[in-house]
Amino acid sequence: MYCNHCGKPVAEEARLCVHCGRAIIVVRECPHKLRRSRSNRRIAGVCGGIAEFFWSQPATVRIVWLLLGLAYGCGVVAYVIAWIAIPRAQRPSNAPRSLPPGLSRQEGLLQSS
Ligand SMILES: [Zn+2]
Repeated sequence: MYCNHCGKPVAEEARLCVHCGRAIIVVRECPHKLRRSRSNRRIAGVCGGIAEFFWSQPATVRIVWLLLGLAYGCGVVAYVIAWIAIPRAQRPSNAPRSLPPGLSRQEGLLQSS
């Protein structure tokens, strides 16, 4: 890790720079980001991701999206734009990348739990 002010190397857990004495500002990535959902998805996970971002129910977001889309006639276009613009959520680090051959997804979930 490097000091934000003088750029000299400092210890990872340091709060003050040993070279210039100023406070080290550690920028951490925000864990709460708008992402397309992997678990709550019907098409691309856009509504599920928005629901997870706002701690809401995916069905509520889908109904609101559908009503706004019918009212203004741009729901499909907005969905495609959101699909392109919102990155997909990362796969959970403990989830298996692929299932063993001959095992369906449901069986794999039962075995892993
Ligand atoms: Zn410094």
